[in-house]
Amino acid sequence: MHNENQALIFELSKPGRIGYSLPEMDIPEVELSDLLPAEYIRQEDADLPEVSELDIMRHYTALSKRNHGVDSGFYPLGSCTMKYNPKVNENVARYNGFAHLHPLQDESSVQGAMELLYDLQEHLIEITGMDEVTLQPAAGAHGEWTGLMMIRAYHEANGDFNRTKVIVPDSAHGTNPASATVAGFETLTVKSNDQGLVDLEDLRRVVGDDTAALMLTNPNTLGLFEENILEMAEIVHGAGGKLYYDGANLNAVLSKARPGDMGFDVVHLNLHKTFTGPHGGGGPGSGPVGVKEDLIPYLPKPILVKTEEGYTFNYDRPQSIGRVKPYYGNFGINVRAYTYIRSMGPDGLKAVTENAVLNANYMMRKLAPAFDLPYDKHCKHEFVLSGKRQKKLGVRTLDIAKRLLDFGYHPPTIYFPLNVEECMMIEPTETESKETLDSFIDAMLQIAKEAEENPEVVQEAPHTTVIGRLDETLAARKPVLRYQKD
Ligand SMILES: *Cc1c(COP(=O)(O)O)cnc(C)c1O
Repeated sequence: MHNENQALIFELSKPGRIGYSLPEMDIPEVELSDLLPAEYIRQEDADLPEVSELDIMRHYTALSKRNHGVDSGFYPLGSCTMKYNPKVNENVARYNGFAHLHPLQDESSVQGAMELLYDLQEHLIEITGMDEVTLQPAAGAHGEWTGLMMIRAYHEANGDFNRTKVIVPDSAHGTNPASATVAGFETLTVKSNDQGLVDLEDLRRVVGDDTAALMLTNPNTLGLFEENILEMAEIVHGAGGKLYYDGANLNAVLSKARPGDMGFDVVHLNLHKTFTGPHGGGGPGSGPVGVKEDLIPYLPKPILVKTEEGYTFNYDRPQSIGRVKPYYGNFGINVRAYTYIRSMGPDGLKAVTENAVLNANYMMRKLAPAFDLPYDKHCKHEFVLSGKRQKKLGVRTLDIAKRLLDFGYHPPTIYFPLNVEECMMIEPTETESKETLDSFIDAMLQIAKEAEENPEVVQEAPHTTVIGRLDETLAARKPVLRYQKD
Protein backbone atom coordinates (compact mmCIF):
# COMPACT_ATOMS: atom_id res chain seq x y z
CA MET A 1 0.00 0.00 0.00
CA HIS A 2 1.68 3.19 -1.12
CA ASN A 3 -0.12 6.45 -1.00
CA GLU A 4 1.89 9.58 -1.58
CA ASN A 5 2.46 10.10 2.13
CA GLN A 6 3.73 6.61 2.74
CA ALA A 7 5.92 6.10 -0.32
CA LEU A 8 9.64 5.95 0.29
CA ILE A 9 11.60 8.86 -1.11
CA PHE A 10 13.21 6.39 -3.51
CA GLU A 11 9.80 5.34 -4.79
CA LEU A 12 8.90 8.97 -5.51
CA SER A 13 12.07 9.42 -7.52
CA LYS A 14 11.80 10.16 -11.28
CA PRO A 15 14.99 10.43 -13.34
CA GLY A 16 15.88 14.03 -14.06
CA ARG A 17 13.51 15.60 -11.55
CA ILE A 18 15.17 18.27 -9.41
CA GLY A 19 14.24 20.29 -6.35
CA TYR A 20 16.34 23.38 -6.93
CA SER A 21 17.54 25.67 -9.69
CA LEU A 22 20.90 27.34 -9.74
CA PRO A 23 21.94 30.29 -11.92
CA GLU A 24 24.00 29.48 -14.97
CA MET A 25 27.65 28.98 -14.16
CA ASP A 26 29.78 32.07 -14.87
CA ILE A 27 33.10 30.83 -13.53
CA PRO A 28 35.46 28.29 -15.09
CA GLU A 29 34.54 24.67 -14.40
CA VAL A 30 37.06 22.74 -12.29
CA GLU A 31 37.78 19.07 -12.82
CA LEU A 32 37.27 17.03 -9.66
CA SER A 33 40.52 15.23 -10.40
CA ASP A 34 42.34 18.56 -10.00
CA LEU A 35 41.06 18.74 -6.45
CA LEU A 36 41.06 15.18 -5.14
CA PRO A 37 43.30 12.12 -5.53
CA ALA A 38 41.75 9.65 -7.98
CA GLU A 39 41.05 6.97 -5.35
CA TYR A 40 38.64 9.30 -3.54
CA ILE A 41 36.53 10.05 -6.59
CA ARG A 42 33.37 8.02 -7.16
CA GLN A 43 33.39 5.83 -10.21
CA GLU A 44 29.60 5.85 -10.46
CA ASP A 45 27.05 8.44 -9.46
CA ALA A 46 25.53 7.90 -6.02
CA ASP A 47 22.08 6.33 -6.16
CA LEU A 48 20.15 9.32 -4.82
CA PRO A 49 16.44 9.96 -5.20
CA GLU A 50 15.47 12.61 -7.74
CA VAL A 51 12.43 14.57 -6.59
CA SER A 52 10.90 18.01 -6.81
CA GLU A 53 11.10 20.59 -4.02
CA LEU A 54 7.47 19.92 -3.04
CA ASP A 55 8.08 16.18 -2.91
CA ILE A 56 11.03 16.54 -0.61
CA MET A 57 9.29 19.05 1.67
CA ARG A 58 6.22 16.84 1.95
CA HIS A 59 8.41 13.83 2.56
CA TYR A 60 10.12 15.45 5.55
CA THR A 61 6.89 16.94 6.88
CA ALA A 62 5.26 13.49 6.74
CA LEU A 63 8.25 11.95 8.52
CA SER A 64 8.13 14.63 11.23
CA LYS A 65 4.49 13.80 11.94
CA ARG A 66 5.42 10.19 12.59
CA ASN A 67 8.00 11.23 15.12
CA HIS A 68 7.19 11.18 18.81
CA GLY A 69 8.63 13.99 20.93
CA VAL A 70 7.77 15.98 23.99
CA ASP A 71 6.20 18.64 21.76
CA SER A 72 3.91 16.10 20.06
CA GLY A 73 2.68 13.94 22.91
CA PHE A 74 2.95 12.53 26.41
CA TYR A 75 6.30 10.83 26.93
CA PRO A 76 6.48 8.91 30.23
CA LEU A 77 9.77 7.12 29.50
CA GLY A 78 10.90 6.52 33.09
CA SER A 79 14.40 7.69 34.06
CA CYS A 80 15.32 9.00 30.64
CA THR A 81 12.32 11.27 30.32
CA MET A 82 12.58 14.51 28.43
CA LYS A 83 10.57 16.66 30.75
CA TYR A 84 10.16 19.98 29.02
CA ASN A 85 11.72 22.15 26.29
CA PRO A 86 10.60 25.73 26.99
CA LYS A 87 10.68 27.76 23.80
CA VAL A 88 12.26 30.78 25.50
CA ASN A 89 15.35 28.65 26.09
CA GLU A 90 15.55 27.90 22.39
CA ASN A 91 15.34 31.61 21.57
CA VAL A 92 18.08 32.50 24.01
CA ALA A 93 20.36 29.72 22.79
CA ARG A 94 19.96 31.12 19.26
CA TYR A 95 20.97 34.69 20.13
CA ASN A 96 23.62 35.70 17.63
CA GLY A 97 25.98 36.54 20.46
CA PHE A 98 25.80 32.93 21.67
CA ALA A 99 25.12 30.89 18.55
CA HIS A 100 27.82 32.56 16.43
CA LEU A 101 30.65 32.38 18.92
CA HIS A 102 33.71 30.47 17.86
CA PRO A 103 35.23 28.24 20.53
CA LEU A 104 38.74 29.45 19.67
CA GLN A 105 37.88 33.13 20.13
CA ASP A 106 40.09 35.06 22.50
CA GLU A 107 38.82 35.06 26.08
CA SER A 108 38.60 38.84 26.07
CA SER A 109 35.95 38.67 23.33
CA VAL A 110 33.71 36.06 25.04
CA GLN A 111 33.51 37.41 28.58
CA GLY A 112 29.69 37.41 28.50
CA ALA A 113 29.52 33.74 27.56
CA MET A 114 32.09 32.90 30.23
CA GLU A 115 30.08 34.86 32.80
CA LEU A 116 26.99 32.82 31.90
CA LEU A 117 28.92 29.57 32.37
CA TYR A 118 30.41 30.78 35.63
CA ASP A 119 27.01 31.84 36.97
CA LEU A 120 25.52 28.51 35.90
CA GLN A 121 28.24 26.75 37.90
CA GLU A 122 27.42 28.92 40.91
CA HIS A 123 23.73 28.03 40.62
CA LEU A 124 24.53 24.33 40.35
CA ILE A 125 26.83 24.55 43.38
CA GLU A 126 23.94 26.08 45.33
CA ILE A 127 21.43 23.52 44.02
CA THR A 128 23.61 20.49 44.80
CA GLY A 129 25.37 21.69 47.95
CA MET A 130 28.79 20.92 46.51
CA ASP A 131 31.94 23.10 46.59
CA GLU A 132 32.86 23.25 42.90
CA VAL A 133 31.35 22.24 39.55
CA THR A 134 32.77 21.50 36.09
CA LEU A 135 30.60 21.88 33.01
CA GLN A 136 32.87 19.84 30.74
CA PRO A 137 31.18 16.41 30.61
CA ALA A 138 28.83 15.97 27.66
CA ALA A 139 26.34 13.52 29.19
CA GLY A 140 25.32 11.76 32.37
CA ALA A 141 27.46 8.70 31.77
CA HIS A 142 30.39 10.94 30.84
CA GLY A 143 29.91 12.76 34.14
CA GLU A 144 29.93 9.44 36.00
CA TRP A 145 33.18 8.44 34.38
CA THR A 146 34.69 11.88 35.08
CA GLY A 147 33.67 11.65 38.75
CA LEU A 148 35.13 8.17 39.12
CA MET A 149 38.41 9.22 37.51
CA MET A 150 38.63 12.01 40.10
CA ILE A 151 37.92 9.55 42.90
CA ARG A 152 40.69 7.31 41.62
CA ALA A 153 43.10 10.29 41.40
CA TYR A 154 42.20 11.23 44.97
CA HIS A 155 42.90 7.74 46.34
CA GLU A 156 46.14 7.45 44.40
CA ALA A 157 47.31 10.86 45.62
CA ASN A 158 46.87 9.43 49.12
CA GLY A 159 49.03 6.47 48.18
CA ASP A 160 45.93 4.28 48.25
CA PHE A 161 46.34 2.05 45.19
CA ASN A 162 44.24 -0.88 46.36
CA ARG A 163 40.86 0.76 46.07
CA THR A 164 39.81 -1.06 42.92
CA LYS A 165 36.13 -1.70 43.65
CA VAL A 166 33.05 0.41 43.08
CA ILE A 167 29.84 -0.65 44.80
CA VAL A 168 26.64 -0.27 42.80
CA PRO A 169 23.18 -1.24 44.07
CA ASP A 170 21.07 -3.42 41.76
CA SER A 171 18.52 -0.58 41.55
CA ALA A 172 21.08 1.82 40.05
CA HIS A 173 20.82 3.21 36.56
CA GLY A 174 22.47 0.92 34.01
CA THR A 175 25.17 3.44 33.19
CA ASN A 176 26.60 3.27 36.74
CA PRO A 177 28.21 -0.18 36.53
CA ALA A 178 29.18 0.54 32.91
CA SER A 179 30.99 3.77 33.86
CA ALA A 180 32.77 2.05 36.74
CA THR A 181 34.00 -0.64 34.37
CA VAL A 182 35.13 1.87 31.74
CA ALA A 183 36.97 3.79 34.47
CA GLY A 184 38.90 0.59 35.22
CA PHE A 185 37.16 -0.43 38.45
CA GLU A 186 35.61 -3.73 39.37
CA THR A 187 31.89 -3.46 40.12
CA LEU A 188 30.33 -5.08 43.17
CA THR A 189 26.55 -5.28 43.26
CA VAL A 190 24.55 -4.78 46.45
CA LYS A 191 21.03 -6.10 46.59
CA SER A 192 17.84 -4.20 47.29
CA ASN A 193 15.78 -5.28 50.29
CA ASP A 194 12.05 -6.03 50.16
CA GLN A 195 11.37 -2.30 50.54
CA GLY A 196 13.22 -1.61 47.26
CA LEU A 197 16.05 0.14 49.13
CA VAL A 198 19.74 -0.70 49.45
CA ASP A 199 20.18 -3.61 51.84
CA LEU A 200 22.50 -2.20 54.55
CA GLU A 201 23.61 -5.65 55.69
CA ASP A 202 24.67 -6.50 52.16
CA LEU A 203 26.42 -3.12 51.91
CA ARG A 204 28.37 -3.79 55.13
CA ARG A 205 29.35 -7.17 53.72
CA VAL A 206 30.90 -5.80 50.52
CA VAL A 207 32.51 -2.61 51.87
CA GLY A 208 36.19 -2.85 52.71
CA ASP A 209 39.62 -1.28 52.35
CA ASP A 210 39.43 -1.99 48.61
CA THR A 211 36.29 0.18 48.26
CA ALA A 212 36.88 3.19 46.01
CA ALA A 213 33.30 4.44 46.06
CA LEU A 214 29.60 3.70 46.35
CA MET A 215 27.53 4.98 43.43
CA LEU A 216 23.98 5.72 44.42
CA THR A 217 21.16 6.55 42.05
CA ASN A 218 18.75 8.54 44.18
CA PRO A 219 15.84 8.25 43.91
CA ASN A 220 16.72 4.79 42.69
CA THR A 221 15.31 3.37 39.48
CA LEU A 222 12.28 2.09 41.40
CA GLY A 223 11.47 5.77 41.99
CA LEU A 224 12.14 5.38 45.73
CA PHE A 225 14.14 7.74 47.91
CA GLU A 226 16.95 5.88 49.64
CA GLU A 227 15.95 6.47 53.25
CA ASN A 228 19.17 5.30 54.85
CA ILE A 229 21.62 7.56 53.08
CA LEU A 230 23.23 8.93 56.26
CA GLU A 231 23.90 5.41 57.45
CA MET A 232 25.27 4.40 54.05
CA ALA A 233 27.53 7.46 54.10
CA GLU A 234 28.84 6.42 57.50
CA ILE A 235 29.52 2.86 56.34
CA VAL A 236 31.30 3.90 53.14
CA HIS A 237 33.23 6.87 54.56
CA GLY A 238 34.13 4.77 57.58
CA ALA A 239 35.91 2.37 55.23
CA GLY A 240 37.70 5.22 53.43
CA GLY A 241 35.51 5.14 50.29
CA LYS A 242 33.85 8.05 48.52
CA LEU A 243 30.16 8.59 47.85
CA TYR A 244 28.92 9.24 44.35
CA TYR A 245 25.40 10.62 43.70
CA ASP A 246 23.76 9.96 40.36
CA GLY A 247 21.63 13.10 40.14
CA ALA A 248 20.41 12.65 36.57
CA ASN A 249 16.82 13.01 37.74
CA LEU A 250 17.15 15.87 40.18
CA ASN A 251 13.52 16.85 39.58
CA ALA A 252 12.75 14.46 42.43
CA VAL A 253 14.61 16.44 45.11
CA LEU A 254 15.32 19.90 43.63
CA SER A 255 15.08 22.66 46.24
CA LYS A 256 14.13 20.04 48.85
CA ALA A 257 17.32 18.13 49.56
CA ARG A 258 20.92 18.50 48.41
CA PRO A 259 23.37 15.68 47.74
CA GLY A 260 26.13 17.76 49.36
CA ASP A 261 24.20 17.94 52.63
CA MET A 262 23.62 14.18 52.61
CA GLY A 263 27.37 13.51 52.64
CA PHE A 264 28.06 12.90 48.97
CA ASP A 265 31.51 13.72 47.60
CA VAL A 266 30.65 13.75 43.90
CA VAL A 267 27.41 14.32 41.99
CA HIS A 268 26.51 14.55 38.34
CA LEU A 269 23.42 16.18 36.88
CA ASN A 270 21.79 15.72 33.51
CA LEU A 271 21.03 19.21 32.24
CA HIS A 272 19.42 17.52 29.21
CA LYS A 273 16.82 15.96 31.49
CA THR A 274 15.98 17.99 34.57
CA PHE A 275 17.16 21.31 33.17
CA THR A 276 15.29 21.22 29.84
CA GLY A 277 18.03 20.68 27.25
CA PRO A 278 16.31 18.90 24.36
CA HIS A 279 17.72 15.43 23.95
CA GLY A 280 17.17 12.40 21.84
CA GLY A 281 19.13 10.39 19.35
CA GLY A 282 22.24 10.66 21.47
CA GLY A 283 22.78 14.30 22.14
CA PRO A 284 23.89 16.94 22.63
CA GLY A 285 23.86 16.66 26.40
CA SER A 286 25.48 18.19 29.41
CA GLY A 287 26.47 16.25 32.52
CA PRO A 288 28.10 18.70 34.95
CA VAL A 289 29.92 17.19 37.91
CA GLY A 290 30.03 18.74 41.37
CA VAL A 291 32.65 17.83 43.97
CA LYS A 292 33.48 18.51 47.58
CA GLU A 293 36.58 20.42 48.65
CA ASP A 294 39.04 17.51 48.81
CA LEU A 295 38.35 16.50 45.20
CA ILE A 296 38.71 19.99 43.69
CA PRO A 297 42.39 19.54 42.72
CA TYR A 298 41.42 16.66 40.41
CA LEU A 299 38.72 18.45 38.41
CA PRO A 300 39.16 18.28 34.64
CA LYS A 301 41.21 21.16 33.36
CA PRO A 302 40.82 23.94 32.52
CA ILE A 303 38.58 25.26 35.24
CA LEU A 304 36.66 28.48 34.76
CA VAL A 305 37.64 31.13 37.30
CA LYS A 306 36.68 34.72 38.04
CA THR A 307 39.56 37.14 38.59
CA GLU A 308 39.81 40.89 39.02
CA GLU A 309 40.49 41.20 35.29
CA GLY A 310 37.50 39.05 34.32
CA TYR A 311 36.76 35.41 33.59
CA THR A 312 39.53 33.09 32.49
CA PHE A 313 40.30 29.40 32.00
CA ASN A 314 42.92 28.17 34.43
CA TYR A 315 45.16 25.41 33.06
CA ASP A 316 47.61 25.45 35.92
CA ARG A 317 46.18 22.37 37.59
CA PRO A 318 48.97 19.84 38.21
CA GLN A 319 46.72 17.21 39.84
CA SER A 320 43.88 17.45 37.31
CA ILE A 321 42.65 14.26 35.62
CA GLY A 322 43.05 16.28 32.38
CA ARG A 323 40.59 17.48 29.84
CA VAL A 324 37.49 15.33 29.25
CA LYS A 325 35.85 17.35 26.46
CA PRO A 326 37.04 19.78 23.80
CA TYR A 327 36.49 23.42 24.79
CA TYR A 328 34.24 23.73 27.84
CA GLY A 329 31.30 21.38 27.36
CA ASN A 330 28.20 21.76 25.21
CA PHE A 331 27.64 25.49 25.43
CA GLY A 332 24.15 25.58 23.87
CA ILE A 333 22.73 23.14 26.42
CA ASN A 334 24.30 25.12 29.24
CA VAL A 335 22.66 28.33 27.93
CA ARG A 336 19.29 26.58 28.05
CA ALA A 337 19.84 25.30 31.60
CA TYR A 338 20.93 28.77 32.73
CA THR A 339 17.84 30.34 31.16
CA TYR A 340 15.62 27.75 32.82
CA ILE A 341 17.11 28.21 36.28
CA ARG A 342 16.90 32.01 36.00
CA SER A 343 13.34 31.99 34.69
CA MET A 344 12.10 29.51 37.32
CA GLY A 345 13.82 30.95 40.37
CA PRO A 346 14.06 29.02 43.67
CA ASP A 347 10.28 28.87 44.17
CA GLY A 348 9.72 27.67 40.62
CA LEU A 349 12.30 24.91 41.05
CA LYS A 350 10.66 23.82 44.27
CA ALA A 351 7.31 23.62 42.44
CA VAL A 352 8.99 21.41 39.80
CA THR A 353 9.79 18.81 42.41
CA GLU A 354 6.44 19.04 44.15
CA ASN A 355 4.56 18.59 40.88
CA ALA A 356 6.82 15.80 39.63
CA VAL A 357 6.29 13.85 42.83
CA LEU A 358 2.57 14.62 43.06
CA ASN A 359 1.95 13.59 39.44
CA ALA A 360 3.84 10.32 39.87
CA ASN A 361 2.00 9.39 43.06
CA TYR A 362 -1.37 10.31 41.55
CA MET A 363 -0.78 8.12 38.53
CA MET A 364 0.65 5.27 40.59
CA ARG A 365 -2.43 5.15 42.84
CA LYS A 366 -4.83 5.28 39.88
CA LEU A 367 -3.05 2.44 38.06
CA ALA A 368 -2.32 0.26 41.09
CA PRO A 369 -5.69 -1.56 41.10
CA ALA A 370 -5.31 -2.78 37.51
CA PHE A 371 -1.63 -3.74 37.60
CA ASP A 372 0.77 -4.96 40.28
CA LEU A 373 2.59 -2.46 42.45
CA PRO A 374 5.76 -4.19 43.63
CA TYR A 375 6.65 -1.51 46.20
CA ASP A 376 3.57 -0.07 47.82
CA LYS A 377 4.93 3.18 49.22
CA HIS A 378 5.22 6.84 48.20
CA CYS A 379 7.34 7.27 45.13
CA LYS A 380 9.35 10.27 44.00
CA HIS A 381 9.39 11.39 40.33
CA GLU A 382 8.70 7.94 38.87
CA PHE A 383 7.30 4.56 39.85
CA VAL A 384 7.34 0.98 38.65
CA LEU A 385 4.45 -1.33 37.94
CA SER A 386 4.60 -5.00 37.14
CA GLY A 387 2.57 -6.52 34.33
CA LYS A 388 2.72 -10.03 35.78
CA ARG A 389 -1.08 -10.25 36.18
CA GLN A 390 -1.46 -9.51 32.45
CA LYS A 391 1.32 -11.96 31.61
CA LYS A 392 -0.78 -14.76 33.09
CA LEU A 393 -3.42 -13.81 30.51
CA GLY A 394 -0.87 -14.10 27.72
CA VAL A 395 -0.24 -10.36 27.42
CA ARG A 396 3.33 -9.30 27.99
CA THR A 397 4.56 -5.87 29.04
CA LEU A 398 6.01 -5.45 25.57
CA ASP A 399 2.47 -5.88 24.17
CA ILE A 400 1.13 -3.24 26.55
CA ALA A 401 3.88 -0.84 25.43
CA LYS A 402 3.01 -1.47 21.78
CA ARG A 403 -0.71 -1.01 22.44
CA LEU A 404 -0.03 2.41 23.99
CA LEU A 405 1.19 3.55 20.56
CA ASP A 406 -2.38 3.15 19.29
CA PHE A 407 -3.47 5.71 21.87
CA GLY A 408 -0.76 8.12 20.70
CA TYR A 409 1.54 7.70 23.71
CA HIS A 410 5.21 7.01 23.87
CA PRO A 411 5.51 3.88 26.04
CA PRO A 412 7.19 3.90 29.43
CA THR A 413 10.57 2.26 30.00
CA ILE A 414 10.00 -1.49 30.08
CA TYR A 415 11.86 -4.49 31.50
CA PHE A 416 13.98 -2.21 33.68
CA PRO A 417 14.91 -2.34 36.51
CA LEU A 418 15.66 -6.01 36.11
CA ASN A 419 14.61 -7.08 39.60
CA VAL A 420 10.92 -6.41 38.83
CA GLU A 421 9.14 -8.99 36.68
CA GLU A 422 7.46 -7.53 33.54
CA CYS A 423 8.51 -4.09 34.72
CA MET A 424 7.07 -0.78 33.51
CA MET A 425 8.85 2.33 34.74
CA ILE A 426 6.65 5.38 34.38
CA GLU A 427 7.61 9.02 34.82
CA PRO A 428 4.73 11.42 34.17
CA THR A 429 6.96 14.50 34.80
CA GLU A 430 6.12 17.81 36.43
CA THR A 431 4.86 19.57 33.35
CA GLU A 432 1.77 17.56 32.38
CA SER A 433 -1.78 18.68 33.10
CA LYS A 434 -4.20 16.58 35.10
CA GLU A 435 -6.22 16.02 31.89
CA THR A 436 -3.18 14.49 30.17
CA LEU A 437 -2.43 12.30 33.17
CA ASP A 438 -6.07 11.16 33.27
CA SER A 439 -6.13 10.32 29.57
CA PHE A 440 -3.03 8.18 29.92
CA ILE A 441 -4.49 6.49 33.00
CA ASP A 442 -7.69 5.75 31.03
CA ALA A 443 -5.65 4.23 28.20
CA MET A 444 -3.73 1.99 30.61
CA LEU A 445 -6.93 0.88 32.34
CA GLN A 446 -8.51 0.11 29.00
CA ILE A 447 -5.50 -1.96 27.99
CA ALA A 448 -5.72 -3.89 31.27
CA LYS A 449 -9.37 -4.58 30.46
CA GLU A 450 -8.53 -5.66 26.92
CA ALA A 451 -5.94 -8.06 28.32
CA GLU A 452 -8.77 -9.80 30.16
CA GLU A 453 -11.48 -9.62 27.54
CA ASN A 454 -9.79 -9.45 24.19
CA PRO A 455 -6.06 -10.18 24.54
CA GLU A 456 -5.43 -10.41 20.77
CA VAL A 457 -5.99 -6.66 20.42
CA VAL A 458 -3.06 -6.09 22.73
CA GLN A 459 -0.91 -8.96 21.51
CA GLU A 460 -1.15 -7.78 17.90
CA ALA A 461 -0.73 -4.05 18.59
CA PRO A 462 0.04 -1.53 17.28
CA HIS A 463 -2.83 -1.26 14.80
CA THR A 464 -2.81 2.44 13.93
CA THR A 465 0.86 3.19 13.27
CA VAL A 466 2.45 3.43 9.83
CA ILE A 467 4.30 0.18 10.36
CA GLY A 468 3.37 -2.67 12.64
CA ARG A 469 5.58 -4.41 15.13
CA LEU A 470 9.25 -4.25 14.31
CA ASP A 471 11.74 -7.04 14.64
CA GLU A 472 13.63 -5.16 17.35
CA THR A 473 16.63 -7.45 17.37
CA LEU A 474 17.08 -7.02 13.65
CA ALA A 475 16.49 -3.28 13.96
CA ALA A 476 19.21 -3.01 16.60
CA ARG A 477 21.69 -5.22 14.79
CA LYS A 478 21.07 -3.83 11.30
CA PRO A 479 19.82 -0.28 11.73
CA VAL A 480 20.12 0.60 8.05
CA LEU A 481 18.57 -1.63 5.43
CA ARG A 482 19.30 -0.55 1.92
CA TYR A 483 16.24 0.07 -0.22
CA GLN A 484 16.07 -2.46 -3.03
CA LYS A 485 14.50 -1.34 -6.26
CA ASP A 486 12.44 -4.18 -7.69
C1 LIG B 1 19.77 9.11 31.91
C2 LIG B 1 20.45 8.67 33.13
C3 LIG B 1 21.84 8.47 33.16
C4 LIG B 1 22.72 8.56 31.93
O1 LIG B 1 22.71 9.81 31.32
P1 LIG B 1 23.18 9.96 29.78
O2 LIG B 1 23.17 11.43 29.55
O3 LIG B 1 22.16 9.23 28.97
O4 LIG B 1 24.54 9.37 29.65
C5 LIG B 1 22.42 8.11 34.35
N1 LIG B 1 21.69 7.92 35.46
C6 LIG B 1 20.35 8.09 35.48
C7 LIG B 1 19.60 7.87 36.75
C8 LIG B 1 19.68 8.47 34.32
O5 LIG B 1 18.35 8.62 34.33
